[in-house]
Amino acid sequence: MQDFQFEKARLTMTLRGMGIVESDVLSAIEQVPREIFVPSALRDHAYENASLPIAMEQTISQPYVVARMTAALQLTGRERVLEIGTGSGYQAAILSFLCRRVYSIERLRPLLVEADNIFRKLRITNVTTKLGDGARGWPEGAPFDRIILTCAPPEIPSTLLNQIKTGGIMVAPVGRGRDQSLVVVRRTEDGFEQEDILPVKFVPLIEG
Ligand code: SAH
Repeated sequence: MQDFQFEKARLTMTLRGMGIVESDVLSAIEQVPREIFVPSALRDHAYENASLPIAMEQTISQPYVVARMTAALQLTGRERVLEIGTGSGYQAAILSFLCRRVYSIERLRPLLVEADNIFRKLRITNVTTKLGDGARGWPEGAPFDRIILTCAPPEIPSTLLNQIKTGGIMVAPVGRGRDQSLVVVRRTEDGFEQEDILPVKFVPLIEG
């Protein structure tokens, strides 16, 4: 089994060069074997800084975008984090190294089954998944310290905003078609503060 040490080191150097300075985020990217989350035919491309297709016409995000989103969550290790769009499970696996527990929702069963298998294989025990419509959030688990969307709604559903704790942070791609930005939302005592940080292109959030 190839260990991709060289490719991993090259990827983290690239990310550093692109301004990712958070060493805990870079270390999580070095620890999580991305090659396990991509289709076997694409394993040799696992450590390129590129998004790749996964099953059911979905995509695993570009490592730089995973890093930016993870960094924007400002995790200390103690948080409960809700993710919408489990997909391959890669982003959830990265988060699992940096927070207390990840709650991840996916609407496509085959993807969820595969992601759960990988978590078991990698002995990642602090990710809980469920099948369903992420636009509704996870009311039984709410409120969350952090929420991350890895599929893009035209605008952030208020149900999800309401599941952020006061003092908490949400990171989400927002917009229609190609016209999306990565938005960071902070919930304060007085309401919500919003900042656009990066143009992005995610698969759409599909409601229902
Ligand atoms: N975080 C994933 C990215 C997967 S792509 C990874 O690291 O691989 C986005 C995922 O969002 C897709 O798997 C898609 O099926 C899922 N998705 C889209 N709309 C959704 C919804 N309403 N609820 C839950 N998941 C949704």
